[in-house]
Amino acid sequence: MNPIDAFDMVFFGGTGDLALRKLLPALYHQHQDGNLPKDGRIICLGRSPSDTASYTAKAQSKAKEFLGSHYNEADWAQFAERIEYFKVDAHTLSDFEILAEALNIYPNRSRVFYLSTAPDFFAPIAKNLAAVGLNKGNSRVVLEKPLGHDLESSNKINDEVGEYFQEQQIYRIDHYLGKEPVLNLIALRFANTLLEPLWRREWIRDVQITVTEQVGVETRADFYDKTGALRDMVQNHLLQLLTIVAMEPPASIDADAVRDEKLKVLRALKPLTPENVHNKVVRGQYRAGAVGGKAVPGYQDEPGVPAGSKAETFVALKAEIETWRWAGVPFFLRTGKRLQERLAEIVINFRAAPTSIFGKNMQANRMVIQLQPDESVRLYLLAKEPGRERLREVYLDLDFKETFSTRSPEAYERLLMDVIKGDLSLFVRRDEQRAAWRWVEPIIESWENSSEGPKTYTAGTWGPAASSALLSRDGLCWHEES
Ligand code: NAP
Repeated sequence: MNPIDAFDMVFFGGTGDLALRKLLPALYHQHQDGNLPKDGRIICLGRSPSDTASYTAKAQSKAKEFLGSHYNEADWAQFAERIEYFKVDAHTLSDFEILAEALNIYPNRSRVFYLSTAPDFFAPIAKNLAAVGLNKGNSRVVLEKPLGHDLESSNKINDEVGEYFQEQQIYRIDHYLGKEPVLNLIALRFANTLLEPLWRREWIRDVQITVTEQVGVETRADFYDKTGALRDMVQNHLLQLLTIVAMEPPASIDADAVRDEKLKVLRALKPLTPENVHNKVVRGQYRAGAVGGKAVPGYQDEPGVPAGSKAETFVALKAEIETWRWAGVPFFLRTGKRLQERLAEIVINFRAAPTSIFGKNMQANRMVIQLQPDESVRLYLLAKEPGRERLREVYLDLDFKETFSTRSPEAYERLLMDVIKGDLSLFVRRDEQRAAWRWVEPIIESWENSSEGPKTYTAGTWGPAASSALLSRDGLCWHEES
């Protein structure tokens, strides 16, 4: 890696779950791998008065927990020398003046302001950073999800932050885009000639993108009940994954070349209407059941969930892309809580052979890009079983652990390093976000105006029966049902 200039990384929400569980461990890994410049500082902020020593001790105990065998006492001690803690409340200008004083010890450094707080604080933070002169051209601001709860609120936040930071300084993070298999999908598609001729309607029958969890709403009922699976997962992560699968080859790997192509996909999505939402979108909510052999309560009985809540904990939908490449190929997206498995995968189902000399029921080829729990890319083919006249499905495997001896970095490592280097390719541009909200808005509208609630499903299953029916109407089934 080319050496990068010293920088200051500033974490708003430094005392929060994301910073302690993901962001600091990600930077620790990069420090361990020798990728951080020697005197780059990590400035962590919270609302409570504390000092660097107490904060670092807390961060260390969390890091030990999350880093597991990657934690090393001596490396941590060295890494911790980069960390400083300050009390900064989003609304208190005098706190920002103290922050500016600390940062201005190195007046010309690039600075990254990572807003790992609730989105309500994005505007006041941006405003106060500008008020103390911390929005200079070499400053970058990272915005965590959720960026609003609909098109209007997302526009408002973007307008407010945009008053103080240029679009080129704004990094809207979607950590699914930093996952190695997703990056590998881009490489597989655009660095090899093999796939390109097949990557189209003539050869692909359908695409399935699934991100499921076994956990329920946990302690986040207050947030989740107002948000639901559509806003929490579909509008951002699932649609972003869809753009990576479906985009045309960009003219270069430059940020705007890639993002222009992703935007075209979002704009080519066949609009949903409140009328056809009923046929194309399934919303579900879990009832009591058993997950991994353990009995769990239904959503309505989770602490903090308001009685009669209609919040969806499951969404499955059919998206269609109206381009020459994809017309007629359904893209099925699915996400939910309290499902049978924790899984994130993209399945590309190819068309069956036009005729078979080997008998009936021949399995069509598939490519499965798994993002979690394991990271792999597998191309399923049919091969003859040795010594028998039988065909069996086997796969060519790009198992990252087996194939490459290097550690596979966490998504946040890659994305944080991209921000430090000023590379926007894997961050969501404002117009992409707007297009994604526009596409999901009729779903929100239709649900809000419907007297029907979500369809219930038993915890520990794959969701409501209507989810399977969504595919069976096209003569298809979900990957795990095939
Ligand atoms: P969290 O644990 O609730 O932490 C929130 C942070 O915001 C705390 O550090 C808190 O400081 C700070 N904060 C609250 N009020 C503030 C104020 N007035 N001024 C300045 N800072 C303030 O939340 P989180 O889980 O870390 O998530 C942070 C953001 O990332 C959220 O928007 C969340 O949706 C998003 N996100 C989280 C995850 C995840 O895995 N956790 C994943 C994706 C996205 P105090 O500790 O001093 O109160």
